[in-house]
Amino acid sequence: MRVLVLNSGSSSIKFKLFSMEESIVLASGLIEQIGEADGRASIEGAPGVKSVREGKIADHGDGLHLMLEMLSEAEIIGSLSELDGIGHRVVHGGEEFHQPTVIDTDVMAAIERLSPLAPLHNPANLAGIRVVVEKSPKLPQVAVFDTAFHQSIPKYAYLYALPYQLYEQEHVRRYGFHGTSHHYVAKAAAVYLEKKLESLNMITLHLGNGASACAIRAGESVDTSMGLTPLEGLIMGTRSGDIDPAVLFYLAREKGSSIDELDALLNKQSGLKGICGSNDMREITDRALEGDERSRLALEMVSHRLKKYIGAYTAVLGRVDVLVFTGGIGENAAQLRESSCAGLEEGLGIKIDLEKNRMRKSGIFTISAEDSRVKVLVVPTDEELEIALQTMMAISSAHQ
Ligand code: ADP
Repeated sequence: MRVLVLNSGSSSIKFKLFSMEESIVLASGLIEQIGEADGRASIEGAPGVKSVREGKIADHGDGLHLMLEMLSEAEIIGSLSELDGIGHRVVHGGEEFHQPTVIDTDVMAAIERLSPLAPLHNPANLAGIRVVVEKSPKLPQVAVFDTAFHQSIPKYAYLYALPYQLYEQEHVRRYGFHGTSHHYVAKAAAVYLEKKLESLNMITLHLGNGASACAIRAGESVDTSMGLTPLEGLIMGTRSGDIDPAVLFYLAREKGSSIDELDALLNKQSGLKGICGSNDMREITDRALEGDERSRLALEMVSHRLKKYIGAYTAVLGRVDVLVFTGGIGENAAQLRESSCAGLEEGLGIKIDLEKNRMRKSGIFTISAEDSRVKVLVVPTDEELEIALQTMMAISSAHQ
């Protein structure tokens, strides 16, 4: 079975093509700067075998056309008809989608209806879906929603303490994101530990450019740090995470800041970048080692916020068996893992083995000490593989 996974952004399409029987990636690539003069498409088939095309790519349709042309030139697939299905990452599924869903016109209409909740993402995701419908109407397509895994969060945890009508009429509530990743690493951790997922309480920390924490009981999300949008919660690359919302009223009154300016401030100019000027964790770690005060401060702030969420979710879960670090930062930044868990030994039973934590390994590995009450793991995430697996399952159950 061949499954293509598409992650369409406003001006880009990331893709990965899987052969599911052999669990291998046949090709992956990126179409960038769609709509700009300097478009770029790159695909990688066999490791290291890369082809690149540059020039204007008018729209998502053009981008996918180019991708197919390049896949055919590389003799990977000749046309869409050689695929068994396409899995799309769709950012917002609102309250309507609890699981991966085979796409039909109703599903497309629902994704469109939910666009005000994710104005940058849902329309782009939909553009990718529409192009495939036009090119190959019979090819099964599946939407895998970033929000779906968090639909198990209880009402008392997902509601904001705002007038209840705002939830009923405007759908204002916590939805949570990164669901595909939190779910994937939780399942992978259970397999690694040779335990049933249902028997474990976990905290998963997805730390990339965007970052979120999730409390998982028996394989179900019971709380998460992102909210109505991916802005809430942990300190991220360029996003502030939690702040007092009154900061915004204060800035609007004192500086006359507009809504768009405040949106850009919190989403694009804050987080690590706002504190120390960079949102690249490698650069920040190096600069901190060289004695740069702001970089040090940024790292201290990030680990302090992480500790607060680990503590909060320990209380929510009552007992934690496993703590998982994932995402570009979670998988690689050993120093940050160490500082976020420092001091949690006695109270929370989280004790890192400093040597194991610093050893670079591929795949899943344990970084907690033998006598740590909580197992602490590094689990590389693979959102595309999870989307491909979910796509295959949704297609097979639709055929039954
Ligand atoms: P995205 O959310 O865009 O998918 P990633 O999960 O790729 O992001 O994470 C990007 C972050 O991971 C960046 O801050 C980057 O600096 C950090 N990162 C990647 N590799 C390393 C490394 N070896 N050491 C420390 N940080 C790293």
